[in-house]
Amino acid sequence: MNDAGPGAGSTQTWQDEVTRDLLNLGGRLALLVRGEGSHVWDADGTRYLDFLGGIAVNALGHAHPVFVEAVSRQAAILAHVSNYFATPQQLELAARLKRLAGTGEHGHVFFANSGSEANETAIKLARLHGRKTGKTTIVSLNGAFHGRTMGSLSLTPKPAYQDPFRPLLPGVAHIDPTLEALEAAIDDTVAALVVEPIQGEAGVVPLPDGFLRRARELTTAHGALLIVDEVQTGVGRTGEWFAFQREGILPDAMSLAKGIAAGFPLGALVTFGDSDLFYPGTHNSTFGGNPLATSVGSAVLTEIETSGLLANVNERGAQLRAAVAGMPLVTGTRGAGLLIGVTLSALVAAEVRDAAQRRGLIVNAPTSDVIRLAPAYTIGDAEVDEFTSVFAAALAEVAASSPRSEADRSGTDPKDHA
Ligand SMILES: *Cc1c(COP(=O)(O)O)cnc(C)c1O
Repeated sequence: MNDAGPGAGSTQTWQDEVTRDLLNLGGRLALLVRGEGSHVWDADGTRYLDFLGGIAVNALGHAHPVFVEAVSRQAAILAHVSNYFATPQQLELAARLKRLAGTGEHGHVFFANSGSEANETAIKLARLHGRKTGKTTIVSLNGAFHGRTMGSLSLTPKPAYQDPFRPLLPGVAHIDPTLEALEAAIDDTVAALVVEPIQGEAGVVPLPDGFLRRARELTTAHGALLIVDEVQTGVGRTGEWFAFQREGILPDAMSLAKGIAAGFPLGALVTFGDSDLFYPGTHNSTFGGNPLATSVGSAVLTEIETSGLLANVNERGAQLRAAVAGMPLVTGTRGAGLLIGVTLSALVAAEVRDAAQRRGLIVNAPTSDVIRLAPAYTIGDAEVDEFTSVFAAALAEVAASSPRSEADRSGTDPKDHA
């Protein structure tokens, strides 16, 4: 590797290597080399508190002993066999996901390697259902993020993401995430409605009250599938195993990825019934569900269960929301558990993110006025305290450098700006 530090003799920096060797898609915030618990270190030895968690992926933090043991043990036994064969690891994880999701006996699981791939599977399920019932349309919501592959991108109505890649998948409609738009859109032509319980990339925006329950009623009445994308919200992130469980409904299918194997690539589509639609030859994935990935998935579920991590997610989430209330520039918080959107009074989220990083805290800015927090489920008092002091200082720094936006904020106590 070339020198990563400034002025240390080499003419080439890691940023130069990024430019030379990687597609021009970003990835320049830091050169990270090591992680432990909720901290990561860059190549210069600077330590950061990681409150992004690899975008809601590192549920157990970094280098958790359970993760390390699961990867090493299974790598030494059997890592990959292809989907011509079954493995005990795959069967165990499928049965556990069905149980946790409450699919009942008709549930089935397909394993993939990413959220996009899980959603591609959901789209194919919707097409198979549409074929059987004579329906064509798949409905998704404005503000949604379902992935970057061509199918999942077609359900992600953001012009900056979609426009360079038209034409997209035909037969997709987008509606506003409101009860009125939902009532108007779901009719007998709809094969499936695909929704995130909380729109993570849109800035941690929950669905309106009652939306999922009404979506369940309408899709059932019109013979459409209700598919929930829990790639970001699933597997404990919101303090429930799955966010749909807060609403007392069952979907027809649910996509998972991100936190499911806490950093090992794994995705899944869990179906709740009617999954006789797939038959051999209709779908598969070479790597999907290999014994290495699925053994890590099971180890993560066991750790969440046996260490009481769902309770910790709820408790620490409440603590964090209370801690940021009243900080400079902060107008409120959204989300559930440890998926938190901190809303700001000005379009300065990128500045706040950068100020935080300079002070040794990694957070992210999904939109220009929202900071997203998605730390490990394992955080304790020490991490909450460290976050609170560094985040407040970063906000104060940005507030001081943009006095006009700060003046917009009512009820500001000058001592917040110390
Ligand atoms: C991240 C994300 C995806 C895409 O997952 P990838 O693993 O990046 O393909 C899909 N849906 C939601 C809700 C996500 O947050």
